[in-house]
Amino acid sequence: MNRRSKSFFFTIIFLAGFATPSLGWGFYAHRLINYHAVFLLPSPLFGFFKIHIRYLADHATDADSRRYAIREEAPRHYIDLDRYRLPDSLQWPITWPMAVSVFGEDSLQQHGIVPWWIFIMKFRLQKAFEKNDRDQILKIAADIGHYIGDAHVPLHATSNHNGQFTDQSGIHAFWESRLPELFAEQEYDLILSPAVYLREPSSWIWERVLESAASADTVLRVEKELSYALNQDIKMAYEQRNGIVIRNYSKRYASAYHDRLEGMVERRLRYSIHAVASFWLTAWVDAGQPELPQKGP
Ligand SMILES: [Zn+2]
Repeated sequence: MNRRSKSFFFTIIFLAGFATPSLGWGFYAHRLINYHAVFLLPSPLFGFFKIHIRYLADHATDADSRRYAIREEAPRHYIDLDRYRLPDSLQWPITWPMAVSVFGEDSLQQHGIVPWWIFIMKFRLQKAFEKNDRDQILKIAADIGHYIGDAHVPLHATSNHNGQFTDQSGIHAFWESRLPELFAEQEYDLILSPAVYLREPSSWIWERVLESAASADTVLRVEKELSYALNQDIKMAYEQRNGIVIRNYSKRYASAYHDRLEGMVERRLRYSIHAVASFWLTAWVDAGQPELPQKGP
């Protein structure tokens, strides 16, 4: 390999490792969330969702794909809570109309709207159940699973979402993709209690988002401390993935970070799964528990 092609090669692997856009839980975790949520549902919802479990998992990241095609899509996945200054007379959560009057639409689109958007999607899912519209039920159920998952990711609730202000670029995908991919299958307990009906789904998801925002500092601080504590040589490693060599956080570094987070990733993943199932159930109950569509073609 001559010098020029060598540098090109390293550019490619560097990009593969670090240019991952901030899309929420990675592909793997989003699939896992929608898949496991199905098993928390009561009958007859369970029967219907189980038939379509593959669709729900396969389409768990459709919402991310749309970000490149639709301008309004991106802010539905996050909220930079630190960018919103609430007047002293108010506290979170506030309704969408109130948010529009306090911050203005432009500012909301810029700093993210995930908790309000989840509430809108819950309403759309309810309408799809009322109409017995199988395709819409499945599409919206897969999408709302995605947004609820994103709302549980701490770095989706802060403007420093990829550590770009603190010299920690890459931490977004590290936390939400690399860690679950390395540890979920072997170490996480994803057997959960049944879905519950949510009396106040809007304030309920807001609580989760506020938790996410409160955890963001820990996600960043712990990695920073670890980065100082460990020899930099072990931080990154090259590994083969689907036949391509990429530069990524080493397993040793990932393991040390994961330990120092004291179960945070597993906890947020478990909460995500339970929340998704509970939103699906709540939309169906609020629709009047209608009959579910037949399997269809
Ligand atoms: Zn997303």
